Amino acid sequence: MTSNKDRLLQILKERTPISGEYWEKSKDIVPGGLVSLARKFEPYPFYTERAEGPYIWDVDGNQYIDCTMGFGVNVLGHRPPDVTEAINEQLQKGVVYTTPHKMEIDYVERFIECIPGADSMLLCNSGTEATMLGIRLMRQYTGKDKIAKFEGCYHGWHDYAQWSKMVFYDDIGPADKPKAISGAIGMPQAISDTVLVLPFEESAFAMIEEHADELAGVMIEPFIGGGGIPLNTEFLQKLREVTERNGVLLMFDEVITGFRLALGGAQELHSIIPDLATYGKIIGGGLPAGAVGAQDFLTKTILESENNVSNAGTFSGNPMTLAAGYAMLGYLMENRHLYTEMATRGDRLRNGFNQWAGEKGYPAQMTGQVSLYQSHLKSDPITKPRDLLGQPMDAIGELQLQLRVNGLFIPFFHLAFISAAHSDEIIDEVLRIHQVSVEAVLESHGLI
Ligand code: PLP
Repeated sequence: MTSNKDRLLQILKERTPISGEYWEKSKDIVPGGLVSLARKFEPYPFYTERAEGPYIWDVDGNQYIDCTMGFGVNVLGHRPPDVTEAINEQLQKGVVYTTPHKMEIDYVERFIECIPGADSMLLCNSGTEATMLGIRLMRQYTGKDKIAKFEGCYHGWHDYAQWSKMVFYDDIGPADKPKAISGAIGMPQAISDTVLVLPFEESAFAMIEEHADELAGVMIEPFIGGGGIPLNTEFLQKLREVTERNGVLLMFDEVITGFRLALGGAQELHSIIPDLATYGKIIGGGLPAGAVGAQDFLTKTILESENNVSNAGTFSGNPMTLAAGYAMLGYLMENRHLYTEMATRGDRLRNGFNQWAGEKGYPAQMTGQVSLYQSHLKSDPITKPRDLLGQPMDAIGELQLQLRVNGLFIPFFHLAFISAAHSDEIIDEVLRIHQVSVEAVLESHGLI
């Protein structure tokens, strides 16, 4: 008998013959066929033709509601008119100058007006570069080498960030003292000596105190992206207090949360000001961007010293990115009500799903906050990365296929994103698709 998974794979293959052809070609010339491993899908990824508002179309003409949204970049939906116009305008004036240009000042002024803890900012080209730069700033300022990070937090793909980026490894150590697990082949083991992996437990605070002499800083995602898990204000508040008391810097990685949870990101939402924070995704208006926003005491001292922080980059602060980002930030500043609207719609989706799953007694739930959500196949509360363990992973993989067959595109085992372009009607459709898909998958795995 054909399994539900085989049936879904067959449907997807039949619907996407042109994508299938491209995939075969790509595998010959790009290792694994993918320029980013985050785009891995069964039976193969679809190749995109275009995207508009909340929709994305593949080269075979299939339309999907998009809840991947460029992994969070497109907070206004695809092709927001103001941003598209700004890109077109800048295109007429040149794309890369590698000289200073006025938009740098305009952009930075706008950015620091939005971010409570940013008196100044440094620009780079991705979230990965931003955390690399943030780590260097913390080391240079304190003269200490070690950085603490929390288990299950993702901070990009450089060597300093890829430790214990998730919990799906064999031997992760005790819950209150996680092991540092390398997240990629090719990372020098020696770098693990510069990393302290913290648990999402009270014991983290004692560990910070114990290692304060060697710790330059602590970095944390103020919303855990790999799991869609909100953090409570009290935990972040304690982290702020313990770092401050012990002369250790605190860095929020706001690559996802910046300009998404609120205009001022997680620091506005929780009213907690870190010493520095990293940004990416939304801030480039759809073009590659990264940034560190920091308090004055940090950047001033460093940049005034003789041997200042090396922050270069051919493309850093390029006029295309800044023109797009400036338009994006401007639109968000003028339309702050969008955050309330997205939060209401996010609640409509999450609460709608959780109420339905609860009434049915299904082992399923949605977590998230504001415009971020993730669905899980378990009903026990998920408040930290280790709570993600114990789910039927094959059923989760199958759910991805089932959702796509039903017309919804979400990232694989990663949080999903709604945008300002996802209307109430679209949210109701997203909810309906999740319900029928979860039901089908739970049934096919004998879980209901
Ligand atoms: N930090 C966080 C919290 C992220 O979610 C990501 C990417 O998803 C990064 C850093 C890395 O950003 P980028 O993919 O732009 O390098």
